[in-house]
Amino acid sequence: MAVSGAPAQSPAAVTFACGQCGATLAFDGVRTARCPYCDSPNFVERPATAGLPDPQFVVTFVGDANVAGRALDRWLGSRSMFADSALRHAKVEDLRGVYVPAYLYSAVARTDYTAQIGENYTETETYTTTDAQGKTTTHTRTVTRTEYRALAGEHVGYVSDVIVTASRGLGNAELERVEPFDLKQMRRFAPPLISGWITEEFSRERDECLRLSRGEAVDQIGARLGRFMPGDSYSDLSYKTSVSWESLDPILVPVWVFAVRYRDDKDPLRVLINGQTGEIAGKVPLSPWKIIFTILGALAVIAGIAFLIHQHGRHP
Ligand SMILES: [Zn+2]
Repeated sequence: MAVSGAPAQSPAAVTFACGQCGATLAFDGVRTARCPYCDSPNFVERPATAGLPDPQFVVTFVGDANVAGRALDRWLGSRSMFADSALRHAKVEDLRGVYVPAYLYSAVARTDYTAQIGENYTETETYTTTDAQGKTTTHTRTVTRTEYRALAGEHVGYVSDVIVTASRGLGNAELERVEPFDLKQMRRFAPPLISGWITEEFSRERDECLRLSRGEAVDQIGARLGRFMPGDSYSDLSYKTSVSWESLDPILVPVWVFAVRYRDDKDPLRVLINGQTGEIAGKVPLSPWKIIFTILGALAVIAGIAFLIHQHGRHP
């Protein structure tokens, strides 16, 4: 297993840059000839970049590559029905643990909001029916109606658990699919904590990560407001958030990456597993022919059943 190397004796890790996805990764007691993110062989040694931020915190891996490998096997197994058969040549040994650079954002968020709050009430109403003989009858029934009233207010809250990627190889949307990390288990960074693992360099600008973080924080506030709303329902929620007391700390988060370049003419398949919680996400390339034949097969069965029902109906 590529990740189970002993801690390196020398603190000077070797750095490699990927010509395909642009990631720069440091290897400490680990060797690989292909990029762990995209399985590209265009992966060359180069000096480490100077002046990068130092990680302040790290969420460490829980469990080893065998645990992650079994989770991956189960996940791939449950999706194999439509999977491209070229995928079967992929080896689970290509699963690699990477400490992905990210930023941890926190801030005090002050929000002014307005919404329409719906309160339900019931009413008894009468209605009449006319039967076939022309006789009219009066009935009563209970109906639920909603009355809306305007609500405006201010909400002040602390946002403390926004993580955004600082990785060139792993975009934010992809990282989000295996979030959250349990930040209560986060530790103050020290080099021995990541010894023997692959670590990517911080490779996104701090300003870009700050903008991403603010966007996520505002989305989080919106979700929180939705849960706070009184009444039976609400509509037209709009809000404006301003942040203060912001902090943005470099952090490393553990991710198992399974990248397979299974066909030269296709983008690599990539499955991610949260190295702390085991949350797994990815896309399996589907074979269009297998899907078409399965649908045709299902249609044939439906047509067969319809035919049998029809035949049965003709001979009671
Ligand atoms: Zn790459």
